[in-house]
Amino acid sequence: MGIAVKDPLEIYVDREKIILSKYEPFCIFCSQADEVKYIKDKTVCVHCINELKNIKNTPAGVFLMFYCKLSYQYKRVPGTPAA
Ligand SMILES: [Zn+2]
Repeated sequence: MGIAVKDPLEIYVDREKIILSKYEPFCIFCSQADEVKYIKDKTVCVHCINELKNIKNTPAGVFLMFYCKLSYQYKRVPGTPAA
């Protein structure tokens, strides 16, 4: 199975089964699991990070950055000071 002691595990319920599997976060953009990094609680692979860097200066990139900022603020716990 490739699971070692202290490996993070994922537990989920599928109808009547409880499934335990090795926790392998995958990229929110391309769904692949290698070289994944955490960015504000989201998992993004290095390839998509590079792609995001490349599109940062395009209109689509500007929109994406704006959208990410909005959703980040939306999830902020009420009552905590703004960053
Ligand atoms: Zn990716």
